[in-house]
Amino acid sequence: MKRRLLFITTLILSLLFIVSGCQFLTGTQTTFTPEDSLAVHFLDVGQGDAMLLVDNNETMLIDGGNPENGNEIINYLADLGITQLDYVVATHNHNDHAGGLTDVVTRLKVGNIYLTNSEETTASKNLVAAATSKNIPISTPSPGTAMAFGSSVINFLGPLNAHEDVNDDSLVMKVTHGTHRFLLTGDMEETAEKELLAQNLDLAADVLKVGHHGSYSSTGYLFLRTVNPRYAVISAGVNNDYGHPHEETLSRLNDAGATIFRTDLLGTIVVTSKGDQLSFDKTGLTPTQPYQEVDNGLIATTNPVLEAPANTATAENASYIGNKNSKVYHLPSCSGLPKESNRIYLNSLDEVHSLGLTPCGICKPPS
Ligand SMILES: [Zn+2]
Ligand SMILES: [Zn+2]
Repeated sequence: MKRRLLFITTLILSLLFIVSGCQFLTGTQTTFTPEDSLAVHFLDVGQGDAMLLVDNNETMLIDGGNPENGNEIINYLADLGITQLDYVVATHNHNDHAGGLTDVVTRLKVGNIYLTNSEETTASKNLVAAATSKNIPISTPSPGTAMAFGSSVINFLGPLNAHEDVNDDSLVMKVTHGTHRFLLTGDMEETAEKELLAQNLDLAADVLKVGHHGSYSSTGYLFLRTVNPRYAVISAGVNNDYGHPHEETLSRLNDAGATIFRTDLLGTIVVTSKGDQLSFDKTGLTPTQPYQEVDNGLIATTNPVLEAPANTATAENASYIGNKNSKVYHLPSCSGLPKESNRIYLNSLDEVHSLGLTPCGICKPPS
């Protein structure tokens, strides 16, 4: 019954959207000159997503991190001289995407809000309430629609179906600026990736915003092969509880030859498309970990995966077990041990300290 009501509401909203959405034109063309630029800011909001798109005078904020990130996003925008947004998009209703948008919508002038059709959450209810109280139009772009955004074109590709998993209901957007293509996938996981693949859509992109913070459950092999990104941006928090990004995803991206940029290591990442140049802005990067420069002056993380020190510790006799990815260490008796391939067996606290590991909050090993 609830789902039916949701369906009807969405149908009405979609109809309103089609009637009122003159900014949405299927097959939209824009006049593109080499002087035009598109900047895509991948904001460091800890464990969450927030992206700012600026093209000429148009602005779009896609996701706003958690509720506590709202204020810092507003400050970031203010530093850029942005006090109003043409579009605010919540890729899906989870708190780490929609949470920070309520503050933004409440405090800034916003033109249009795009939401996905999915199960409601506290975050989405708060966002809708804030938007409704300010009479900001809310709509759900259906897959296949395209809109002009400055000198770019934005194509809404998904979600193609309703899902049990809210992540798979993420809005999937492809932003094309000249020859450069960005694929933004929210927290889409493999189920929705396969649905997109089945439609034979043009998913090829230069920059992939990696789904679900680099979780192993996203960025499947076939999907990645089809997108074939040169650059992969992962938005994740330092030492987050989920171990994002997962080693499996990093391996797949490395195998695919993508240069990886991570907000947990580099802070906010700004990618600018201008003419035939795609550049990663050094001034936008505040590295928290070592990084290396690659061709064209771009910056890539060294993607550090910890190596076990030369020692005699084994699964049977280790005093501590470290996690290569999350850089947390545990007692061997811990209920939350990492999976085998991510473990580093350690003899002593000296070894723990030499790797800079942090103690697990469940088993609370000595530090
Ligand atoms: Zn998320
Ligand atoms: Zn999510």
